[in-house]
Amino acid sequence: MDGWKTRTQLVHEGSRRSQYGEMAEAIFLTQGFVYESAEQAEARFQKAGDDEFIYARYGNPTTRMFEERIAALEGTEDAFATASGMAAVMGSLASLLRAGDHVVSARALFGSCLYVLEEVLQRYGVKVTFVDGADIEQWRAAVVPGVKAVFFESMSNPTLELVDIAAVSEIAHQVGALVIVDNVFATPIFSRAVSQGADVVVYSTTKHIDGQGRALGGVVCGTKDYIRKVLEPFMKHTGGSMSPFTSWIMLNGMVTLDLRCRAMADSARRIATVLETMGQASRVIYPGLSSHPQHALAMAQMGSGGTIVTFEVAGGKDAAFRFLNALQIIKISNNLGDAKSIVTHPATTTHSRLPDDQKARLGITPGLVRLSVGLEDVDDLISDIEQAFSVI
Ligand SMILES: *Cc1c(COP(=O)(O)O)cnc(C)c1O
Repeated sequence: MDGWKTRTQLVHEGSRRSQYGEMAEAIFLTQGFVYESAEQAEARFQKAGDDEFIYARYGNPTTRMFEERIAALEGTEDAFATASGMAAVMGSLASLLRAGDHVVSARALFGSCLYVLEEVLQRYGVKVTFVDGADIEQWRAAVVPGVKAVFFESMSNPTLELVDIAAVSEIAHQVGALVIVDNVFATPIFSRAVSQGADVVVYSTTKHIDGQGRALGGVVCGTKDYIRKVLEPFMKHTGGSMSPFTSWIMLNGMVTLDLRCRAMADSARRIATVLETMGQASRVIYPGLSSHPQHALAMAQMGSGGTIVTFEVAGGKDAAFRFLNALQIIKISNNLGDAKSIVTHPATTTHSRLPDDQKARLGITPGLVRLSVGLEDVDDLISDIEQAFSVI
């Protein structure tokens, strides 16, 4: 609905009710649909209407509700839900590109995104040029005529470096390249990448959108033309669609998304401030602090520092491990955006695949720790961090 504000959209947008008038969104746990006649089946395969479904790999009423809700939130014409965030990343690129095409990508990427861009696409004959995402001059130099798409994470993992969505989009659009943004760290609450110039926005809904660590999922948001003519044919025939049960989980996750992201970001800001003043961490990275080199851009682009705080424990890997092991409330894992606070040691887990020079280049040092701030009481989280520092 035009004119609804975010929280109203998150509760109501996309809801479809069956003849029973159920209050909660129904899970249509069905792979297929029965046609009233052979003629109806024929017509539906020719062109399925908005409320007409064929097969769950193509679409499903529960999944459709989720797609409409996230498209409304993101402010895009349409969306397609996928089995995981990586199915969304892979689909957004593979549906568009063919051998001989050229893509420019930021270098600082989630490990599996890097694998797709560095290994998979190049294997299929797509040329990929990597740039330092925060450096606009590198984008300007690399995005030459003929570039088909640019890809970046609007805020990078784990060093929380921002890419200026508006500036890079302007450069890309001058040569007619499609701008695909992985917006997971920024969340759809803090950053509407399309309104800032991006063409396609991709989420791993495994993160903040589920927000309770239950299910893998992903979604691609964009224009009706891109979603239905480019992406959908690829996704529905290659098998990466979201299951109806997962869609139901994500629909329910969205209801509280705004409240959760804001509460988590408030706590993240408090924790980052405490870490900075406490002086135990040798470096604190949080875009919401004025010490962050891109603080002004973060405020303009997200109006928040987000829900993740990254910091360096002095003393390298040993000290970082002792810190992680001493935490009592904060769990050691590798998800983010969860209601439970999660701590990760990127150098030995999510980014362990990278060669040492690449890690150094991306600032992934042996003492670096990534904290995804959850919904616990922030004072308990601060106490947990303080006692863990006192142990080391
Ligand atoms: C987690 C993540 C993905 C991949 O999502 P999955 O749901 O795990 O497949 C992609 N990009 C970013 C930035 C992520 O954090």
